[in-house]
Amino acid sequence: MLPFQINSDFPVLGQRMYSLAERLFPICRSITGNGLRETLRIVQQEIPLTLHEVPTGTPAFDWVVPREWNIRDAYIKNSRGEKIVDFQQNNLHVLNYSTPINTRMSLEELRPHLFTLPDMPDWIPHRTSYFNNNWGFCTTHRQLEALPDDDYEVVIDSSLELGSLTYGELTIPGESEEQILLFAHCCHPSLANDNLSGIAVVVELAKIIRASSPRFTYRCVFSPAAIGCITWLSQNQSELSKVKLGMVAALLGDPGQLSYKKTQAGNALIDRASLHILRHRNLPFRTLEFSPFGYDERQFASPGINLPVGRLTRTPNGAYPEYHTSADNMSLITPNAMADSLATYCAIFALIENNHVYKSNFPYCEPQLGKRGLYRTTGGHGTPEQRQMAILWVLNQANGEHDLLDIAERADLQFEIIASVAAELAAAEVIRKV
Ligand code: ZN
Repeated sequence: MLPFQINSDFPVLGQRMYSLAERLFPICRSITGNGLRETLRIVQQEIPLTLHEVPTGTPAFDWVVPREWNIRDAYIKNSRGEKIVDFQQNNLHVLNYSTPINTRMSLEELRPHLFTLPDMPDWIPHRTSYFNNNWGFCTTHRQLEALPDDDYEVVIDSSLELGSLTYGELTIPGESEEQILLFAHCCHPSLANDNLSGIAVVVELAKIIRASSPRFTYRCVFSPAAIGCITWLSQNQSELSKVKLGMVAALLGDPGQLSYKKTQAGNALIDRASLHILRHRNLPFRTLEFSPFGYDERQFASPGINLPVGRLTRTPNGAYPEYHTSADNMSLITPNAMADSLATYCAIFALIENNHVYKSNFPYCEPQLGKRGLYRTTGGHGTPEQRQMAILWVLNQANGEHDLLDIAERADLQFEIIASVAAELAAAEVIRKV
Protein backbone atom coordinates (compact mmCIF):
# COMPACT_ATOMS: atom_id res chain seq x y z
CA MET A 1 0.00 0.00 0.00
CA LEU A 2 1.27 3.45 -0.87
CA PRO A 3 2.26 5.04 2.46
CA PHE A 4 0.57 8.23 3.66
CA GLN A 5 3.73 9.30 5.44
CA ILE A 6 7.39 8.98 4.54
CA ASN A 7 8.75 10.71 7.63
CA SER A 8 11.26 8.01 8.49
CA ASP A 9 13.58 8.65 5.54
CA PHE A 10 12.80 12.32 5.10
CA PRO A 11 16.34 13.79 5.26
CA VAL A 12 17.84 10.88 3.30
CA LEU A 13 15.26 11.25 0.52
CA GLY A 14 15.74 15.02 0.43
CA GLN A 15 19.48 14.62 0.06
CA ARG A 16 19.07 11.95 -2.63
CA MET A 17 16.77 14.18 -4.72
CA TYR A 18 19.11 17.13 -4.28
CA SER A 19 22.08 15.01 -5.41
CA LEU A 20 20.24 13.90 -8.54
CA ALA A 21 19.39 17.52 -9.37
CA GLU A 22 23.03 18.45 -8.76
CA ARG A 23 24.20 15.74 -11.13
CA LEU A 24 21.80 16.85 -13.87
CA PHE A 25 22.38 20.58 -13.38
CA PRO A 26 25.38 21.14 -15.72
CA ILE A 27 23.76 19.44 -18.74
CA CYS A 28 22.55 21.68 -21.58
CA ARG A 29 19.06 20.36 -22.24
CA SER A 30 16.53 21.45 -24.83
CA ILE A 31 13.33 20.08 -26.37
CA THR A 32 15.45 17.65 -28.42
CA GLY A 33 19.08 16.60 -28.53
CA ASN A 34 21.83 14.88 -26.60
CA GLY A 35 21.43 16.90 -23.39
CA LEU A 36 17.84 15.72 -23.05
CA ARG A 37 18.88 12.14 -23.92
CA GLU A 38 21.75 12.16 -21.41
CA THR A 39 19.40 13.47 -18.72
CA LEU A 40 16.92 10.65 -19.33
CA ARG A 41 19.76 8.09 -19.32
CA ILE A 42 20.82 9.32 -15.89
CA VAL A 43 17.20 9.05 -14.69
CA GLN A 44 17.27 5.53 -16.15
CA GLN A 45 19.99 4.64 -13.64
CA GLU A 46 17.48 5.44 -10.88
CA ILE A 47 14.27 3.92 -12.27
CA PRO A 48 13.76 1.57 -15.27
CA LEU A 49 12.64 4.22 -17.71
CA THR A 50 11.95 3.30 -21.35
CA LEU A 51 13.33 5.89 -23.75
CA HIS A 52 11.28 6.68 -26.83
CA GLU A 53 12.73 8.44 -29.89
CA VAL A 54 10.15 10.16 -32.10
CA PRO A 55 11.71 11.09 -35.47
CA THR A 56 11.88 14.65 -36.78
CA GLY A 57 8.90 15.33 -39.02
CA THR A 58 6.51 13.03 -37.14
CA PRO A 59 3.13 14.77 -36.95
CA ALA A 60 1.80 15.44 -33.47
CA PHE A 61 -1.73 16.82 -33.85
CA ASP A 62 -1.22 20.33 -35.31
CA TRP A 63 2.54 20.15 -34.72
CA VAL A 64 5.50 18.35 -36.20
CA VAL A 65 8.48 17.00 -34.24
CA PRO A 66 11.21 19.58 -34.96
CA ARG A 67 14.77 19.06 -36.11
CA GLU A 68 17.11 17.89 -33.38
CA TRP A 69 19.29 20.58 -31.83
CA ASN A 70 22.76 19.90 -30.54
CA ILE A 71 25.41 22.31 -29.38
CA ARG A 72 29.09 21.82 -28.76
CA ASP A 73 30.37 25.32 -28.04
CA ALA A 74 29.51 29.00 -28.26
CA TYR A 75 31.30 32.20 -27.40
CA ILE A 76 31.81 35.87 -28.19
CA LYS A 77 35.41 37.05 -28.39
CA ASN A 78 36.55 40.68 -28.45
CA SER A 79 39.19 41.95 -30.85
CA ARG A 80 41.93 41.03 -28.35
CA GLY A 81 40.78 37.39 -28.63
CA GLU A 82 39.33 37.28 -25.09
CA LYS A 83 36.16 35.25 -24.60
CA ILE A 84 33.72 37.70 -23.07
CA VAL A 85 30.69 35.38 -23.22
CA ASP A 86 31.34 31.65 -22.90
CA PHE A 87 28.81 28.81 -23.21
CA GLN A 88 31.25 26.56 -21.31
CA GLN A 89 30.89 28.83 -18.25
CA ASN A 90 27.09 28.76 -18.28
CA ASN A 91 24.87 27.13 -20.91
CA LEU A 92 22.20 29.82 -20.37
CA HIS A 93 24.53 32.15 -22.31
CA VAL A 94 23.19 30.72 -25.57
CA LEU A 95 19.70 31.36 -26.85
CA ASN A 96 18.41 27.78 -26.63
CA TYR A 97 17.91 26.30 -30.15
CA SER A 98 20.22 28.91 -31.75
CA THR A 99 21.12 28.24 -35.36
CA PRO A 100 24.88 27.98 -36.00
CA ILE A 101 26.93 31.07 -36.73
CA ASN A 102 30.62 31.87 -37.14
CA THR A 103 31.35 35.44 -38.13
CA ARG A 104 32.65 38.85 -37.01
CA MET A 105 30.46 41.86 -36.35
CA SER A 106 30.20 45.26 -34.68
CA LEU A 107 28.44 45.84 -31.37
CA GLU A 108 25.57 47.47 -33.28
CA GLU A 109 25.06 44.32 -35.35
CA LEU A 110 25.43 42.09 -32.30
CA ARG A 111 23.06 44.00 -30.02
CA PRO A 112 19.72 42.69 -31.42
CA HIS A 113 21.00 39.18 -30.65
CA LEU A 114 21.85 39.89 -27.00
CA PHE A 115 19.22 39.24 -24.34
CA THR A 116 19.46 40.64 -20.81
CA LEU A 117 17.31 41.43 -17.79
CA PRO A 118 17.55 45.19 -17.14
CA ASP A 119 15.63 44.81 -13.86
CA MET A 120 17.96 42.09 -12.58
CA PRO A 121 21.30 43.24 -13.98
CA ASP A 122 23.42 40.45 -12.47
CA TRP A 123 21.39 37.49 -13.71
CA ILE A 124 21.49 35.76 -17.09
CA PRO A 125 18.03 35.17 -18.60
CA HIS A 126 16.88 31.79 -19.96
CA ARG A 127 15.61 32.35 -23.50
CA THR A 128 14.58 29.97 -26.25
CA SER A 129 13.83 30.17 -29.96
CA TYR A 130 12.40 26.75 -30.75
CA PHE A 131 10.12 27.39 -33.67
CA ASN A 132 11.71 30.30 -35.53
CA ASN A 133 15.27 30.28 -36.78
CA ASN A 134 17.32 32.71 -34.78
CA TRP A 135 20.58 32.87 -32.90
CA GLY A 136 21.53 34.82 -29.84
CA PHE A 137 23.32 35.13 -26.56
CA CYS A 138 22.05 35.87 -23.08
CA THR A 139 24.22 37.87 -20.72
CA THR A 140 23.88 39.91 -17.58
CA HIS A 141 22.64 43.43 -18.20
CA ARG A 142 25.69 44.79 -16.42
CA GLN A 143 27.93 43.07 -18.95
CA LEU A 144 25.94 44.40 -21.92
CA GLU A 145 26.15 47.94 -20.62
CA ALA A 146 29.91 47.68 -20.27
CA LEU A 147 30.50 46.36 -23.82
CA PRO A 148 32.60 48.77 -25.90
CA ASP A 149 32.38 49.24 -29.65
CA ASP A 150 34.58 46.53 -31.09
CA ASP A 151 34.96 43.93 -33.78
CA TYR A 152 33.47 40.80 -32.17
CA GLU A 153 33.98 37.18 -33.16
CA VAL A 154 30.66 35.39 -32.74
CA VAL A 155 30.61 31.59 -32.75
CA ILE A 156 27.77 29.19 -32.10
CA ASP A 157 28.82 25.65 -32.93
CA SER A 158 25.35 24.11 -33.01
CA SER A 159 23.45 21.91 -35.41
CA LEU A 160 19.80 21.52 -36.36
CA GLU A 161 19.44 18.22 -38.16
CA LEU A 162 17.08 15.35 -38.77
CA GLY A 163 17.01 13.38 -35.56
CA SER A 164 14.37 12.77 -32.93
CA LEU A 165 12.59 14.01 -29.86
CA THR A 166 13.30 11.88 -26.81
CA TYR A 167 10.97 11.17 -23.94
CA GLY A 168 11.18 8.68 -21.11
CA GLU A 169 8.36 6.70 -19.60
CA LEU A 170 7.96 4.27 -16.75
CA THR A 171 4.75 2.30 -16.37
CA ILE A 172 4.14 0.85 -12.92
CA PRO A 173 1.39 -1.73 -13.26
CA GLY A 174 -1.37 -1.75 -10.65
CA GLU A 175 -4.28 -4.08 -9.85
CA SER A 176 -6.46 -1.92 -12.08
CA GLU A 177 -5.82 -0.87 -15.68
CA GLU A 178 -7.01 2.62 -14.79
CA GLN A 179 -4.04 4.95 -15.16
CA ILE A 180 -2.63 7.83 -13.18
CA LEU A 181 -0.24 10.15 -15.03
CA LEU A 182 2.74 11.87 -13.49
CA PHE A 183 4.31 14.36 -15.85
CA ALA A 184 7.67 16.10 -15.39
CA HIS A 185 9.21 18.34 -18.03
CA CYS A 186 12.92 18.01 -18.67
CA CYS A 187 13.82 20.45 -21.46
CA HIS A 188 15.37 23.28 -19.45
CA PRO A 189 19.16 23.72 -19.42
CA SER A 190 20.97 24.64 -16.18
CA LEU A 191 17.94 25.64 -14.11
CA ALA A 192 17.40 23.88 -10.80
CA ASN A 193 13.90 24.52 -9.54
CA ASP A 194 12.33 24.76 -12.97
CA ASN A 195 12.61 21.25 -14.08
CA LEU A 196 15.30 19.44 -12.07
CA SER A 197 13.36 19.54 -8.79
CA GLY A 198 10.28 18.12 -10.55
CA ILE A 199 12.29 15.34 -12.19
CA ALA A 200 13.92 14.40 -8.87
CA VAL A 201 10.60 14.30 -6.98
CA VAL A 202 8.91 12.13 -9.63
CA VAL A 203 11.92 9.75 -9.62
CA GLU A 204 11.64 9.20 -5.85
CA LEU A 205 7.84 9.03 -5.98
CA ALA A 206 8.10 6.36 -8.70
CA LYS A 207 10.41 4.33 -6.45
CA ILE A 208 7.91 4.53 -3.57
CA ILE A 209 4.97 3.60 -5.82
CA ARG A 210 6.89 0.64 -7.31
CA ALA A 211 7.52 -0.70 -3.81
CA SER A 212 3.85 -0.40 -2.82
CA SER A 213 1.79 -2.81 -5.03
CA PRO A 214 -0.45 0.03 -6.18
CA ARG A 215 -4.15 -0.25 -6.95
CA PHE A 216 -3.90 1.96 -10.06
CA THR A 217 -1.43 1.79 -12.93
CA TYR A 218 0.99 4.72 -12.90
CA ARG A 219 2.63 6.23 -15.95
CA CYS A 220 5.55 8.49 -15.12
CA VAL A 221 6.51 10.56 -18.15
CA PHE A 222 9.62 12.70 -18.46
CA SER A 223 9.34 14.76 -21.62
CA PRO A 224 10.12 18.19 -22.97
CA ALA A 225 7.38 20.71 -22.08
CA ALA A 226 4.70 21.58 -24.65
CA ILE A 227 5.97 19.83 -27.83
CA GLY A 228 7.03 16.79 -25.77
CA CYS A 229 3.66 16.54 -24.05
CA ILE A 230 1.82 17.11 -27.35
CA THR A 231 3.95 14.39 -28.97
CA TRP A 232 3.34 11.98 -26.06
CA LEU A 233 -0.42 12.63 -26.21
CA SER A 234 -0.55 12.09 -29.95
CA GLN A 235 1.48 8.86 -29.65
CA ASN A 236 -0.75 7.57 -26.84
CA GLN A 237 -4.14 8.74 -28.03
CA SER A 238 -5.64 5.24 -28.09
CA GLU A 239 -4.69 4.71 -24.42
CA LEU A 240 -6.10 7.96 -23.08
CA SER A 241 -9.51 6.52 -22.19
CA LYS A 242 -7.75 4.54 -19.44
CA VAL A 243 -6.43 7.69 -17.77
CA LYS A 244 -8.29 8.39 -14.54
CA LEU A 245 -6.39 11.52 -13.53
CA GLY A 246 -2.93 13.04 -13.45
CA MET A 247 -0.58 15.58 -12.03
CA VAL A 248 2.03 17.86 -13.54
CA ALA A 249 5.07 17.95 -11.24
CA ALA A 250 7.36 20.96 -11.47
CA LEU A 251 8.95 23.68 -9.33
CA LEU A 252 9.19 21.52 -6.23
CA GLY A 253 12.49 22.54 -4.67
CA ASP A 254 12.20 26.17 -3.54
CA PRO A 255 11.38 26.85 0.10
CA GLY A 256 8.10 28.67 -0.72
CA GLN A 257 4.67 27.32 0.20
CA LEU A 258 2.97 24.67 -1.92
CA SER A 259 0.54 25.77 -4.64
CA TYR A 260 -2.11 23.56 -6.17
CA LYS A 261 -3.50 24.51 -9.56
CA LYS A 262 -6.93 23.05 -10.17
CA THR A 263 -8.01 21.10 -13.23
CA GLN A 264 -10.28 22.79 -15.71
CA ALA A 265 -13.41 21.34 -14.07
CA GLY A 266 -12.03 22.21 -10.64
CA ASN A 267 -13.83 19.42 -8.76
CA ALA A 268 -12.14 16.28 -10.08
CA LEU A 269 -10.83 13.67 -7.65
CA ILE A 270 -7.27 14.99 -8.07
CA ASP A 271 -8.52 18.46 -7.02
CA ARG A 272 -10.45 17.16 -4.02
CA ALA A 273 -7.63 14.86 -2.90
CA SER A 274 -4.88 17.48 -3.28
CA LEU A 275 -6.82 20.21 -1.50
CA HIS A 276 -7.83 17.87 1.32
CA ILE A 277 -4.20 16.88 1.95
CA LEU A 278 -3.02 20.49 1.73
CA ARG A 279 -5.70 21.72 4.16
CA HIS A 280 -4.87 19.05 6.72
CA ARG A 281 -1.13 19.76 6.68
CA ASN A 282 -1.84 22.90 8.75
CA LEU A 283 0.72 24.86 6.74
CA PRO A 284 -0.03 27.82 4.48
CA PHE A 285 -0.64 26.91 0.82
CA ARG A 286 -2.07 28.52 -2.27
CA THR A 287 -4.94 27.35 -4.47
CA LEU A 288 -4.77 28.49 -8.08
CA GLU A 289 -7.79 28.37 -10.34
CA PHE A 290 -7.26 26.77 -13.74
CA SER A 291 -5.94 28.91 -16.57
CA PRO A 292 -4.78 27.71 -19.99
CA PHE A 293 -1.23 28.91 -19.24
CA GLY A 294 1.75 27.52 -17.37
CA TYR A 295 2.97 23.96 -17.96
CA ASP A 296 1.51 20.88 -19.61
CA GLU A 297 -1.76 20.97 -17.67
CA ARG A 298 -3.08 23.09 -20.53
CA GLN A 299 -2.47 20.33 -23.11
CA PHE A 300 -4.40 17.85 -20.95
CA ALA A 301 -7.21 20.37 -20.58
CA SER A 302 -7.60 21.00 -24.33
CA PRO A 303 -11.13 20.18 -25.59
CA GLY A 304 -10.18 16.98 -27.44
CA ILE A 305 -8.05 15.54 -24.62
CA ASN A 306 -9.99 16.77 -21.59
CA LEU A 307 -8.27 14.79 -18.84
CA PRO A 308 -8.38 15.85 -15.17
CA VAL A 309 -4.74 16.76 -14.61
CA GLY A 310 -3.82 19.08 -11.76
CA ARG A 311 -0.50 20.69 -10.96
CA LEU A 312 1.26 20.80 -7.64
CA THR A 313 4.23 23.18 -7.44
CA ARG A 314 5.76 25.21 -4.67
CA THR A 315 6.08 28.86 -5.81
CA PRO A 316 4.38 28.91 -9.24
CA ASN A 317 6.01 29.77 -12.56
CA GLY A 318 6.74 33.45 -12.93
CA ALA A 319 5.95 34.13 -9.25
CA TYR A 320 9.54 34.09 -7.98
CA PRO A 321 12.18 36.53 -9.24
CA GLU A 322 14.75 33.81 -10.04
CA TYR A 323 12.33 32.07 -12.46
CA HIS A 324 13.95 31.46 -15.88
CA THR A 325 17.22 33.11 -14.87
CA SER A 326 20.69 31.98 -13.82
CA ALA A 327 19.60 32.57 -10.21
CA ASP A 328 17.38 29.46 -10.44
CA ASN A 329 20.42 27.41 -9.49
CA MET A 330 21.33 24.80 -6.90
CA SER A 331 21.30 27.40 -4.12
CA LEU A 332 17.60 28.15 -4.73
CA ILE A 333 16.46 24.60 -4.01
CA THR A 334 16.81 22.67 -0.76
CA PRO A 335 16.69 18.96 0.16
CA ASN A 336 14.04 19.77 2.79
CA ALA A 337 11.70 21.50 0.36
CA MET A 338 12.00 18.60 -2.09
CA ALA A 339 11.33 16.07 0.67
CA ASP A 340 8.30 18.08 1.77
CA SER A 341 7.02 18.12 -1.83
CA LEU A 342 7.56 14.38 -2.13
CA ALA A 343 5.73 13.76 1.17
CA THR A 344 2.75 15.74 -0.09
CA TYR A 345 2.66 13.90 -3.42
CA CYS A 346 2.82 10.63 -1.52
CA ALA A 347 -0.07 11.58 0.77
CA ILE A 348 -2.22 12.69 -2.20
CA PHE A 349 -1.75 9.44 -4.11
CA ALA A 350 -2.12 7.34 -0.95
CA LEU A 351 -5.48 9.05 -0.49
CA ILE A 352 -6.52 8.32 -4.08
CA GLU A 353 -5.41 4.68 -3.72
CA ASN A 354 -7.46 4.27 -0.53
CA ASN A 355 -10.52 6.21 -1.57
CA HIS A 356 -13.11 3.43 -1.67
CA VAL A 357 -16.90 3.50 -1.60
CA TYR A 358 -18.65 1.35 1.01
CA LYS A 359 -22.14 0.09 1.63
CA SER A 360 -23.48 -0.79 5.08
CA ASN A 361 -24.47 -4.37 5.88
CA PHE A 362 -26.65 -2.99 8.73
CA PRO A 363 -28.47 -0.03 7.20
CA TYR A 364 -31.42 -0.15 9.61
CA CYS A 365 -30.43 2.14 12.48
CA GLU A 366 -26.91 1.97 13.81
CA PRO A 367 -25.29 -1.42 14.26
CA GLN A 368 -24.20 -2.48 17.71
CA LEU A 369 -20.51 -1.71 17.85
CA GLY A 370 -19.78 -2.94 21.38
CA LYS A 371 -20.34 -6.59 20.64
CA ARG A 372 -17.88 -6.31 17.74
CA GLY A 373 -15.19 -4.57 19.81
CA LEU A 374 -15.60 -1.40 17.76
CA TYR A 375 -16.94 0.89 20.47
CA ARG A 376 -14.30 3.49 21.46
CA THR A 377 -11.50 1.77 19.57
CA THR A 378 -8.02 3.13 19.95
CA GLY A 379 -4.99 2.72 17.75
CA GLY A 380 -4.75 3.53 14.07
CA HIS A 381 -4.99 7.21 13.23
CA GLY A 382 -6.62 9.98 15.29
CA THR A 383 -7.71 10.41 18.90
CA PRO A 384 -10.38 8.05 20.37
CA GLU A 385 -12.95 10.89 20.04
CA GLN A 386 -12.05 11.49 16.39
CA ARG A 387 -12.24 7.76 15.68
CA GLN A 388 -15.64 7.56 17.34
CA MET A 389 -16.97 10.39 15.18
CA ALA A 390 -15.34 8.85 12.11
CA ILE A 391 -17.12 5.52 12.76
CA LEU A 392 -20.48 7.26 13.09
CA TRP A 393 -19.89 9.22 9.89
CA VAL A 394 -18.77 6.20 7.87
CA LEU A 395 -21.79 4.17 9.03
CA ASN A 396 -24.11 7.05 8.30
CA GLN A 397 -22.73 7.67 4.80
CA ALA A 398 -22.18 4.04 3.77
CA ASN A 399 -24.98 3.97 1.22
CA GLY A 400 -22.79 3.15 -1.77
CA GLU A 401 -22.81 6.73 -3.04
CA HIS A 402 -20.15 8.55 -1.03
CA ASP A 403 -16.45 7.89 -1.35
CA LEU A 404 -14.32 8.10 1.79
CA LEU A 405 -12.99 11.50 0.77
CA ASP A 406 -16.55 12.84 0.64
CA ILE A 407 -17.11 11.51 4.13
CA ALA A 408 -13.82 12.93 5.45
CA GLU A 409 -14.72 16.35 4.06
CA ARG A 410 -18.24 16.24 5.49
CA ALA A 411 -16.98 15.05 8.89
CA ASP A 412 -14.13 17.58 8.76
CA LEU A 413 -11.71 14.82 9.71
CA GLN A 414 -8.41 13.79 8.19
CA PHE A 415 -8.86 11.21 5.40
CA GLU A 416 -6.50 8.78 7.12
CA ILE A 417 -8.78 8.56 10.18
CA ILE A 418 -11.84 7.89 8.03
CA ALA A 419 -9.95 5.32 5.92
CA SER A 420 -8.57 3.61 9.01
CA VAL A 421 -11.97 3.15 10.71
CA ALA A 422 -13.56 2.13 7.40
CA ALA A 423 -10.96 -0.65 7.11
CA GLU A 424 -11.83 -1.77 10.66
CA LEU A 425 -15.56 -1.70 9.97
CA ALA A 426 -15.03 -3.67 6.77
CA ALA A 427 -12.88 -6.25 8.61
CA ALA A 428 -15.75 -6.66 11.11
CA GLU A 429 -18.13 -7.05 8.11
CA VAL A 430 -20.23 -4.10 9.18
CA ILE A 431 -19.67 -2.44 5.79
CA ARG A 432 -18.50 -3.78 2.42
CA LYS A 433 -16.60 -2.26 -0.48
CA VAL A 434 -18.71 -1.37 -3.50
ZN1 ZN B 1 10.16 26.87 -17.48
